Amino acid sequence: MLPIPDLMEARNVLVVAPHPDDAEIAAGGTIALLAEKGAKITYAMVTDGSRGGLQPGISEAQMASIRRAEQEQAGKVLGVADIVWLGFQDTEVPQAEIVREPLISLIREIQPDFVITLDPWLPYEAHPDHRRTSMAAVEACLFAGLPMIQPEDLEHGLAPWQVTGIALALSAKPNTFIGIDSSWDKKVQALRCHKSQFPDPVWNMFYPMILAKSEEYGRRANAKTGEAFKVLTTTHLHVMPDTWQA
Ligand SMILES: [Zn+2]
Repeated sequence: MLPIPDLMEARNVLVVAPHPDDAEIAAGGTIALLAEKGAKITYAMVTDGSRGGLQPGISEAQMASIRRAEQEQAGKVLGVADIVWLGFQDTEVPQAEIVREPLISLIREIQPDFVITLDPWLPYEAHPDHRRTSMAAVEACLFAGLPMIQPEDLEHGLAPWQVTGIALALSAKPNTFIGIDSSWDKKVQALRCHKSQFPDPVWNMFYPMILAKSEEYGRRANAKTGEAFKVLTTTHLHVMPDTWQA
């Protein structure tokens, strides 16, 4: 019933991700397309990914520094302008009430028209960092425009800001399909930057899965490859019984 905004018209995008690599997996092709169209892309990386390694014997500090470098490299491939590291402990992202605070301030600072994050209502998502990060992101979108939430932000020159749209990636109920044929190579190149996550044996198993899913989404966008999102407004995200099927 409520119209949804056009993600590809976004000019200033904040991507909120739990770990290095999630943004590329979920939305790398779309992010590259938006950057090519001149949109400014900022990542908010909620954790440093310090516990995401597959090799034993590497310290958390070493892993964090490896993953930071990998993420910065992947961001360059996609045309990301800036990466803000929020510094929450990997695998221990706290509840949304805590994580949304820095996100509200960041939304007020960056003033994005679109926020891209993961779908917090993805059934069977077991990773708490994913559930809590994405829930904090949608709560931050809901509250960033309200002057009585975190009024101290104003003292730092951060006025309330209302986002136009929220795009939830890795959604079980997508309503928007973006063809990414022209940015597919960039997506793959960006994913390959995350060498600690995708050593060759893992990549050889992962790549056919991501390709098959991209082809399924691509068919919905009259393309060979695609990405899918559930695009909503903040109005959809409160007292709206029909949003689940929007
Ligand atoms: Zn993740």
